Amino acid sequence: CSIIGYYGKDVAAPIIVKGLKRMEYRGYDSVGVATESKNQIELKKGTGKVHEVNSKVQLETLPGKVGIGHTRWATHGKVTDANAHPHPSNSGKIAIVHNGIIENFEELKKQLEDGGYTFKSETDSEIIANLLQKNYEQTNNVKETILKTVSQLKGHYAFVAMFENGQLAAARFHEPLIIGVGKDDFFLSSDVLGFIEFTDNAIYMENGTFVVSEKNKFQILDFDGEHVKYEITKVSKEF
Ligand code: GLU
Repeated sequence: CSIIGYYGKDVAAPIIVKGLKRMEYRGYDSVGVATESKNQIELKKGTGKVHEVNSKVQLETLPGKVGIGHTRWATHGKVTDANAHPHPSNSGKIAIVHNGIIENFEELKKQLEDGGYTFKSETDSEIIANLLQKNYEQTNNVKETILKTVSQLKGHYAFVAMFENGQLAAARFHEPLIIGVGKDDFFLSSDVLGFIEFTDNAIYMENGTFVVSEKNKFQILDFDGEHVKYEITKVSKEF
């Protein structure tokens, strides 16, 4: 229901947890965070409110300066720990958070299962993780991976993907996605509330575009792979 990604100079998990709390008004049933540290992805999640899950599994203690977080409003699959996001790919080298619905997930899941992929959740979202892994293994390039993946997905979504090398990528299709641009860091969030305490510089991503980062630099492209010009706007802090 809310997604957030952080790349930066500070430890990611506490910043992500703060952002998720600020977006609580969007409503949700489960929470989770994944971070990257030393080229390894670690993940914690569970059902309940942000403070409940945080005190149960200590989301905030995850290490590293890159991370993603999610609050879930279940549409496909029950409210369980396994169905909470983030979802890792089979290799554990990619993790995703997703807001929305993947309409053709059954078809994609079958294709992936025929190719040897396994699934731990009942969600539509988990297929994004394994589809990204499959496409990344073929292209070895994050930009090409996202382009190929969005051409295969049907439905409406905003997702953030984190790769084990610390790269982040996020795509927007009929669900909100906003980039918060800090001095040495940036955020990818469903709502400006996800990052407003840290920066008031925002890029409202257009529908049918995606962002790919390399360190703290990023580029925005459309689903044809063309670069998109963007504007940084000032967000009012009066909430
Ligand atoms: N369809 C996904 C699920 O049920 C994502 C729901 C959401 O937007 O929170 O897990």
